[in-house]
Amino acid sequence: MKRTHHCNELRPAHIGQTVTLTGWVHSRRDLGGLLFLDVRDREGRTQTVFDPSDLPNALFESAAALRSECVVRVTGKVRQRPAGTNNPKISTGEIEVLAQSLEVLNMADVLPFPVDDPEIAGKVNEELRLKYRYLDLRRPEMARNLRLRSKVAGATRQFLDEQGFLEVETPILFKSTPEGAREFLVPNRREPGTFYALPQSPQQFKQILMVGGVERYYQLARCFRDEDQRADRQLEFTQIDIEMSFIEREDVYALVEGLLKRIWKTALDIDVPTPFRRLRFEEALNRYGIDKPDTRFGQELADFTEEFRGSAFKVFSGAVAGGGVVKALNAKGLAGATQGQIETMTEYAKSFGARGLAYIKIENGEWKSPIVKFFSDAEKAALTAKLQIEEGDLILFAADHWLNACEILGKIRLYCADVLREQGKLTVDSKRFDFLWVVDFPLLSFDKEQNRWYSSHHPFTAPVAEDIPLLKSDPKKVRGQHYDIVVNGVELGGGSIRIHQPDVQKTVFEEVLQIPPAETKLRFGYLLEAFRYGAPPHGGIALGFDRLIAILCDTPSIRDVIAFPKTAKGVDLMTDSPAPVPPRQLRELYIEVKSAKSP
Ligand code: ASP
Repeated sequence: MKRTHHCNELRPAHIGQTVTLTGWVHSRRDLGGLLFLDVRDREGRTQTVFDPSDLPNALFESAAALRSECVVRVTGKVRQRPAGTNNPKISTGEIEVLAQSLEVLNMADVLPFPVDDPEIAGKVNEELRLKYRYLDLRRPEMARNLRLRSKVAGATRQFLDEQGFLEVETPILFKSTPEGAREFLVPNRREPGTFYALPQSPQQFKQILMVGGVERYYQLARCFRDEDQRADRQLEFTQIDIEMSFIEREDVYALVEGLLKRIWKTALDIDVPTPFRRLRFEEALNRYGIDKPDTRFGQELADFTEEFRGSAFKVFSGAVAGGGVVKALNAKGLAGATQGQIETMTEYAKSFGARGLAYIKIENGEWKSPIVKFFSDAEKAALTAKLQIEEGDLILFAADHWLNACEILGKIRLYCADVLREQGKLTVDSKRFDFLWVVDFPLLSFDKEQNRWYSSHHPFTAPVAEDIPLLKSDPKKVRGQHYDIVVNGVELGGGSIRIHQPDVQKTVFEEVLQIPPAETKLRFGYLLEAFRYGAPPHGGIALGFDRLIAILCDTPSIRDVIAFPKTAKGVDLMTDSPAPVPPRQLRELYIEVKSAKSP
C-alpha cells in the first residue's frame, strides 16, 4: 500500500514527477467537466484532478462516485496549477496532481457531520463529536492537538531523562486511601468483599520508590478520581508525576521551570523567562482573592480595614469589630455595569454567605451608591487614593472574615475582567504566559462541620521545619512545604516536600488529622514501616498534563486534547460505557445489584 509522498509534501519542485498519494477524500468539486478531489492525510491535503478526456470511462466514473471521506490511493503527475487558481491557504496550493489511476480502498457512508469545513465542524454539537470521535479526530484542529500532545510528552521525557530521572510505572490496581476524592473500586474475585482502588495519584508509590533508592522518578501517570464532574474535569486524567530525593523546594522550582521552559519552546517556540515569580498564599489572596491568580491584569484588591474601623457605616465597622476585614476593588471603566451584571456579582457574594454586595458607580462626577452618604471625607479620600478612583469606575466591596472577603472579591475580579474584555476595555495578550509559584500555604485547614483539621494538600506534605513544634499546640500557624505552579489563572500543578520521619508522619495522621491508630495502621502501615528503614528526605510535584496541553493548544476544554474523553456525566458516548454486565459476571464477583439497568 505504498505512497510516494504524504499529502503535505508536494511543491513546484516536484512538477513533472509521477507520484502516489493515499488518504481520505477531503472534498470534491465538479468544474467544467473536470473532477477535483482534495486528498487528505494526517499531514495535509493535495488537490487531485480527474479529466474524463484523459481517463478510461470506468476509472472516471468510480472517481465521480466517491464522496467525502472515502479512502483512496491516487497516482498521477504533478503539475503547476493553472494561472489564478493557486490556493495560498494550503502549502501544496501551487500544484495539483493530474490523476492517472485510482484505487478505492474503502467507501464511506454519508457522514453525521462534515469534517472538511472548520466553520461548520467547530459548531457541531459536542455529543455528536464524541459519539463519532474517530471522525472528529480527522479534523485538522483535533489532529493538531493530538500531535502537540505527543510532541510535548516526548519533550518531557527527553528533558527528564537528561536530568537523570527514571520512568517507572506504578500500579493501576491499588488500594483505597483517603487522599481526598472519591475512588473507583474494583472488586476482587479472589476474595469476596475485598477491593482494589484505582489510584487518585501515584503519590504513595512514588514516595516508596524514594525509599527504594530510585532518587529521581517520573511517570506520565493516569489518575482516577470519581468526582462529580465540574465543568472541565475528567474522571481519568494524566499527570506528569515527579519525585526526587535529597532535595529542597528550590530544587523542585528549578527543575519545573526548566521543564516548562523546554515545553514552551518545543510547542510554541516561546522563550519563557525564568525563574518564575513567587507569591505567598496569603499575599495571593490579599491581592487577587484567589490562590491561583491571573496576574496578566491589575484590578488588585485593596484593604480598608483600618480606614473603616470606626466608620459610621455599620456594615463595615461591624465587620471589623467582629474580627473581619473590609476590602475593595476598582473595576476600571465598568460604571456602566448592567443590573444583570450587578446581580451576578451579588450572587457570588451571597454564595459565600454575604448578605449582599456594596458597590459605588462613579458616573457624571458623582459617587452613586446608597452607602456613600455614610462615608466620611477621610474614608472617601482613602478610597480615592488607594483605588485611584476616576470617572467611569465601579468600586466593589466585601466586609467579611478575611478568607471570605478575599474570595468574594477574587471571583468578582475575574468576572469583571471577562466583562471588560468583552467590551474591549481590557486586553490580555493570548501569547503572554504569567507563570508563578504560590508558596507558604497553611499545612492544615479547619473543617467547621466536622470540627477537625484536614490537610490543605495531602497528609504527606511536610511542615516547614521550624513550625513542627506547633503541630499539636497551634495547628493553624503551621506552614506546609507545599507549592503550586500557576499560569494565567490556571493551576498547572502542585507538590510538596514530604514528611520522611516516621514519627512526624504518625503524629500528623493520628494526632493532627485524628485518624484512629487502627485505621492509620490499616491504610498507611506499610508507608510508616517503610519510613523506618532509612527513608531519604524527598519531595516532588505533579503537573496536570491535559490542562497543560489545553493551554498550549489555546482551547478552553481539556476534552479537546484527550483522544477519547468522557462527558460531564462520565459517559463515553462512542462505546456507550459504563454499561450493565451479564449476571454471571456479577456472580463471579460476589456482587448483587439492587436496582439495575437490564443488559
Ligand atoms: N500527588 C499530588 C497530586 O496529585 C501531587 C504531589 O504532591 O506530587 O495532587
